[in-house]
Amino acid sequence: MQLLKERILSEGQILGDDVLKVDMFLNHQIDVALLDEMGKEFYRLFENRGINKIVTIESSGIAIACMAAKYFQVPVVFAKKGKSRNIGDDLYISSVYSFTRLDSYLITVSKKYLSGKDNLLIIDDFLANGHALSGIMDIANQAGAHIEGIGIAIEKAFQGGGDRLRKKGLDIQSLAVIQSIDNGKITFADDQTEKI
Ligand code: 5GP
Repeated sequence: MQLLKERILSEGQILGDDVLKVDMFLNHQIDVALLDEMGKEFYRLFENRGINKIVTIESSGIAIACMAAKYFQVPVVFAKKGKSRNIGDDLYISSVYSFTRLDSYLITVSKKYLSGKDNLLIIDDFLANGHALSGIMDIANQAGAHIEGIGIAIEKAFQGGGDRLRKKGLDIQSLAVIQSIDNGKITFADDQTEKI
C-alpha cells in the first residue's frame, strides 16, 4: 500500500537493525484517515470470504482492526495482555514471546467471544518473527474457530515469521513488506524504495 510505505519512509524511525518506530501515525499518535484507508484495503483483500469477526491483540492492533471492521460490518475481539481478574475464568489463554520486550506475556480471550462458528480475520500492526500471530492462532484453535486470513500493516520479511506461517498454508496479506533495514536504509520487498 503506497500511502503506508510513504508514511514509513517520511516519518518512521529506525532503532538498531530491526525495530521500526511508527509512533507518529500508528503506535502512539494515530492518523485516523490513514488507518481508515488501511481498513478499506483489508476489506478489498478479504471481502466475500465470509468473515464474521476480526481478532487482534491489544493495544496497537485495535485501531486498525476497528477500521477494517467498519467496512466488514463485523465485531472486533481483542486478546487482552496478562490474565485479568474482571474477565472471569472462562478464558482461552496463550503465551506470546515479545520481540520488543524480550519477555513472554499471557494473552486471554473470554470464551464468550470466540467459538467454532467463527470465521476469522486476524489483524495486527507488525509481523516480525510471528510470535504474536502464533499466540492469537493458538487461541483461535482452542476455540475451534476457522482462520480465514491474516492482515498485517507492516511485515518485516527479514525476520522470517511471515514465510514460516505462509508455509503452513495461511493467507497473510501485508500492506507494507520491508525486505531489509540496513544502516538506516529501509528497502521494501516489492520495490527498491530506500530511506537513508
Ligand atoms: P512478532 O511476534 O511477529 O515477532 O512481533 C510482532 C509484535 O511485536 C507486534 O505485535 C508488535 O507489537 C511488535 N513489533 C515487532 N517488531 C516491531 C517493530 O519493528 N516496531 C514496533 N513498533 N513493534 C514491533
